[in-house]
Amino acid sequence: MDYLPIFTKLQSQPCLVVGAGEVAIRKIHLLLRAGAEVTVCGIECRPEIAELAEQGKLTLLLQAFDESMVSGVRLVIAATDSIDVNKQVATVADAQGIFVNVINEPEQGSFVMPSIVDRSPMLIAISSAGHAPVLARMIREKLEGILPKHIGPLTALAGQFRETVKQQLAKPTARRRFWETLFSRGEVASLLEKGQGQQAQQKILSSLEGFTAQGEVALVGAGPGDPSLITLKALQLMQQADIVLFDQLVSTETLELVRKDAKLVNVGKEAGKHSVIQEKTNELLVQYAKAGKKVVRLKGGDPFIFGRGGEELEELIEHQIPFQVVPGVTAASGCSSYAGIPLTHRDYAQSVVFVTGHNKAQGAGPNWASLAQANQTCVFYMGLLQSAKIQQNLIEAGRAASTPVAIVSKGTRQDQQVITGQLSQLVELSQEVQPPALIIVGEVVSLADKLAWFGQQADAGQAASSLINLA
Ligand code: SAH
Repeated sequence: MDYLPIFTKLQSQPCLVVGAGEVAIRKIHLLLRAGAEVTVCGIECRPEIAELAEQGKLTLLLQAFDESMVSGVRLVIAATDSIDVNKQVATVADAQGIFVNVINEPEQGSFVMPSIVDRSPMLIAISSAGHAPVLARMIREKLEGILPKHIGPLTALAGQFRETVKQQLAKPTARRRFWETLFSRGEVASLLEKGQGQQAQQKILSSLEGFTAQGEVALVGAGPGDPSLITLKALQLMQQADIVLFDQLVSTETLELVRKDAKLVNVGKEAGKHSVIQEKTNELLVQYAKAGKKVVRLKGGDPFIFGRGGEELEELIEHQIPFQVVPGVTAASGCSSYAGIPLTHRDYAQSVVFVTGHNKAQGAGPNWASLAQANQTCVFYMGLLQSAKIQQNLIEAGRAASTPVAIVSKGTRQDQQVITGQLSQLVELSQEVQPPALIIVGEVVSLADKLAWFGQQADAGQAASSLINLA
């Protein structure tokens, strides 16, 4: 972080603007809006500034900058058109420990002015630390567009009730949950929008009455790795969570989207220790929810596709803990899209099956005869270690040894790798890649050469995704 963003109180504080031209005007207005006691110095001055001085809104010193002007001032803005004068102002202010901003030369000063979205008392400040002011402005415009109209009055109203809520709900977690629930329902905002301020106040009070922070669990699909593939709902829940229990498949980039104060618990499973860890995970979910926490159980891909999501929910039902399930992009969808392999195609495959390569020790294996049917795409999850079994059983059940196959490793991630070949080479191919990897069997794989797009434009030396054809 190049700068620490803070919001500073300037009501009745002496502030100095050196320069009285066009660029100074905007800064002067901002300082006045913040209630500062503004002094402007300049040899010449814009009529608009003179007018503000006549109205008594600021003090105008029609003279050159003098070191003595800086003493006792809270902050200084150097906005003259002379690089030397601006530099001098910055040096003088700095020497006295006074914050100074130099217009157009941010590196010379000690603070920068952000782009702001002003819905007072809600304020959003955006800064690119001087690197790309245009980009910061574009982000500001975007935010202006998506913020609800009544966010200002809503903020002010919440402020009025802050103390009352604090007295009623002793625990900070309970208070946070109260406000989250209230804001997410949107009732108060819509009453304000209709101009029904009185009713909005009543709504806050009635919601507060008897409010208890009830624990709940959201079973959330985190997708296959690329963080931009998560759903809006997943993002919302990750931003509100107290605790996030995640497993090995959830990418680091996706975890970065979790609320910064939330506790992250890795419940990743090690091979061979499944059942023990699964039981412990179930216990933790119940324990946290019973303590009134908002728990997110984040699972790679989709929680209901080879994710044991159902088993975790059964445990919650037993303990009467409220829950919801948020679907995610499953590995088959993510990997096939990012590898350019359509799972169905009018010419090649009329159906697609998702199969697990990993079965319970005593459990029945898949129906190989049905998987070996032509015009069908088979996607094997957890199949890397079972590639010999898959290759042998499919061929024995009648699938042609020349059927195209692909292994997509680390699908949708920056280091995605796609290897293609024929079914008879599956064992060989599987030795080339790292887990997690997905095996796709079917004629549709032959389209990968033509449809591959992910990482294709990257520099050859640092290609994000590589397509290797061993056929
Ligand atoms: N619930 C998950 C699947 C869990 S099973 C989902 O819907 O995607 C774990 C298996 O998923 C791995 O062994 C692998 O076969 C597959 N997998 C998950 N993420 C993957 C990725 N990014 N790339 C390739 N395969 C992946």
